Amino acid sequence: MFSILELERKVVATELCTNCGSCQGMCPYWKSEKGRTFVDYECDRNEGRCKYFCPRMPADLDALRKKFFADEDYLPEIGPFRGLYLTQAADSEIRKNAQHGGTMTALIKLALEEGFIDSAVLSKASEENGTLNPEGCLVSDPADVIKCSGSSFQIPNSMAVLNKALDEGKFSRIGVVGTPCKTLAAYKMKSKPFAENDNNADNIGMVFGLFCGWGLDWEGMAKFGEAAHVDILPGKYHRMDADDKQIDLDEVLPLVRENCKYCYDMTAEFADLSVGGARSAEGWDVDKKWNQLIIRSKKGEELFKLAVEKGILNVRDFGGNGTEGALAKLKAASESKKSKAVKAIAEKTGTADNLLYLEPSRDIFGKYL
Ligand SMILES: Cc1cc2nc3c(=O)[nH]c(=O)nc-3n(C[C@H](O)[C@H](O)[C@H](O)COP(=O)(O)OP(=O)(O)OC[C@H]3O[C@@H](n4cnc5c(N)ncnc54)[C@H](O)[C@@H]3O)c2cc1C
Repeated sequence: MFSILELERKVVATELCTNCGSCQGMCPYWKSEKGRTFVDYECDRNEGRCKYFCPRMPADLDALRKKFFADEDYLPEIGPFRGLYLTQAADSEIRKNAQHGGTMTALIKLALEEGFIDSAVLSKASEENGTLNPEGCLVSDPADVIKCSGSSFQIPNSMAVLNKALDEGKFSRIGVVGTPCKTLAAYKMKSKPFAENDNNADNIGMVFGLFCGWGLDWEGMAKFGEAAHVDILPGKYHRMDADDKQIDLDEVLPLVRENCKYCYDMTAEFADLSVGGARSAEGWDVDKKWNQLIIRSKKGEELFKLAVEKGILNVRDFGGNGTEGALAKLKAASESKKSKAVKAIAEKTGTADNLLYLEPSRDIFGKYL
């Protein structure tokens, strides 16, 4: 079957497509507009890179993890794990523009300065549409990283930018920041599933994950207007803040992208490091300027240690029940997302034996049913 048809049938038609962009940037056939991925021209290849890179095409995720991460570092609830920290950027300029504590911006900037990576695929407000309708971008100057701070809850197809950069071959250690769907795609690429053309995947330098509950519908977001800083507050607040506007979560939830309901990953398990909002005993007023940081790989650990050593990151205690308590909370939140996703997929297929992109279905994911 043509790859395009297979991808359309297994991912687009089943509403699993996340608009990550990993099928794009290599050919003229797949395109994305306003958060929707579609086929622009028919392509008659039976073996296309698009189908191998897509994070929602079935793949043995356990085997993929084992290829890149040490088994002894694995926590089934949240993936590869070498440590959990509460961090923020020490630089107040970074914190001012960042989504939470600016940990991600500070780490990417440092990674560029210290040669861990030579460029980075990020997301930024689009020139045409202001803060609405973000787009992927490639930066190589550390000074430009801060211009891309903040979270895009509309998911831009930034993996298309990665594919294009890999294809062009100008950079050999590209960093990529992404939600869990994007970071999974990055590891699929790194595993070279299509041996005949790996699109220079060895040139992916590091992968930086963002925790993710869900993304929002592009057009639906427009009704709230432009906002430089949008955030979804922890559960008990039941609201989204868009600059100084406070929006009841009941108005926002209908805009959650359908595909996000089938996503099993909250903490971006395929990554060197993953960063999310802080949840400490101090409460939101303090936590909104801090992050939780999971170290997953040796390279991630090396970058983190350097950041602490150089005073780039501030680190504080979780308070309350300490790191163990914070880890237990994180595991519970992550498992809740897994359970909802696996149940939603089984309901969609009508059988627990077909969990679509989650392989090997029964062995690993069956316990969440
Ligand atoms: C759709 C979405 C849902 C999220 N849901 C949760 C959640 O439920 N719980 C939680 O704890 N955290 C969630 N996060 C992560 C959170 O919003 C912050 O991104 C994270 O805490 C890092 O904060 P920071 O201050 O270090 O980020 P910053 O220093 O501001 O850096 C963020 C970096 O991420 C890049 N970026 C932003 N959006 C995207 C995107 N869509 N795709 C690719 N790159 C992007 C930016 O270009 C920037 O480089 C979500 C993020 C997104 C994008």
